[in-house]
Amino acid sequence: MKVGVPKEIAEDETRVGLVPETVGKLVKDGFEVLVETGAGRNYNIDENYEEAGAKIASDAGEVYGEADLIVKVAKPTEDEIGQMHEGQVLVCFLNGPIFPETVEALANAGVTVFSNEMVPRTSVAQAMDALSSMGSIAGYKCALIGADTLGKYVPMLTTAAGTTKAANVMVFGVAVAGLQAISTMHQLGANVFAYDIRPETKEQAESLGATFIDSEDEQEDEQEEEDEFEEYEPEGFSKLMASLGFYSFAEPSRDEYIVEGEEEEEEEEDSEEEEEDEGWSDEKLEEDQKLVRERIQEMDIVITTALVPGTEAPKLVDKDMVESLKPGSVIVDLAAESGGNCELMEAGETVEHENVKILGPLNVPGRVPIHASQLYSRNMYNLIDHITEDKSDEDSDEKDSQLELDFEDEIIDTMCIAHDGEIRHDDIREALQSASEESEAR
Ligand code: NAD
Repeated sequence: MKVGVPKEIAEDETRVGLVPETVGKLVKDGFEVLVETGAGRNYNIDENYEEAGAKIASDAGEVYGEADLIVKVAKPTEDEIGQMHEGQVLVCFLNGPIFPETVEALANAGVTVFSNEMVPRTSVAQAMDALSSMGSIAGYKCALIGADTLGKYVPMLTTAAGTTKAANVMVFGVAVAGLQAISTMHQLGANVFAYDIRPETKEQAESLGATFIDSEDEQEDEQEEEDEFEEYEPEGFSKLMASLGFYSFAEPSRDEYIVEGEEEEEEEEDSEEEEEDEGWSDEKLEEDQKLVRERIQEMDIVITTALVPGTEAPKLVDKDMVESLKPGSVIVDLAAESGGNCELMEAGETVEHENVKILGPLNVPGRVPIHASQLYSRNMYNLIDHITEDKSDEDSDEKDSQLELDFEDEIIDTMCIAHDGEIRHDDIREALQSASEESEAR
């Protein structure tokens, strides 16, 4: 089976589908790999691919003409689709409901398409989850973009001229990208605040050093809580371990030091937690929103990463909120490609509104091309491994990997959006239908 890697031609796409490290592994697994010259830009040059066992193709036509399976990053252009052939397999980022015409063109050409956006978020699929790999890179990089744009230090610094305050940073959306943004900002020394509508994200954000915006926490009388809190005092060996920083080792399990009468309270808390797992009440969400609106005024950097799969990003930062920020504050809207979380964001631009900069960067993982390509490539290796099977004879030394599509398998069933001339997903068919109705109406 021949795997092809064309050079990405989409504007600003700096990543490559496979890096030499992965090419070497595929060649070992019995694949032939054909890489278009220059595909790895200036970070993976042709010689690196050749050393890994790939053949270098002089142009994209050779790759599309010869390969059985194409690994790309960005969705193909019309011209690229024109070079593909029936029975070929394509793996790339292709948000089907947003670009249904591209999926249709590929289905009409008889191409089997795997879309990275459709990866199931299960532990089995984790190794193939390019959405998470790219989300994590985007979270890291947007924190740096924010820090770089802010005309201030991010950490608190003590200098001979006095002390500067640490920057206040608010991160909206605590999933893969948001968590990485929190962690990066925390490591830079910022005071990090976080907000999400999913209860389980609170603990995750706090574990990375953020303060979660929670109206219930705010309402609690902190002093009263301090008085009631019975601090654990380790003794003997435990004290020694605790003094060395091994708190979790030294600390007994909670039930060993819960004082009498507290059990009921604990149980109540547990059931509250269960309720939280099912989602917060509308009243609480409303109170949280009010608090977010209040707290945002103190922020130097606001990073938004909130997405809702398949639809436009929710608007979380409106004009009033932008205007309430201090002069010199920065908003980095990571949801720019899906319409943005900030009302005033313009995709790919830096907007300045009342002395606040609003950045809508596009293809943020592409700004870290070396590691983005490496992680993407590893995800692609695992996906290729998942959709192929070694069909060589038992007594043969050489592997013979062939495509093996079992649509009973959740990963294959979900990620494969076109096969045998058909679009396989209802939401893409519906998006296509409404697109054609719209153009008829015009
Ligand atoms: P995403 O980019 O789709 O969403 C980002 C975050 O925005 C989510 O946490 C969401 O709750 C939040 N959000 C949406 N509307 C909001 C609003 N109005 N206000 C504030 N926040 C809002 O996230 P993702 O990184 O693609 O992850 C999606 C889901 O998949 C998450 O639940 C994540 O934990 C899960 N996940 C699972 C795996 C796995 O098990 N293999 C891997 C990655 C992600």
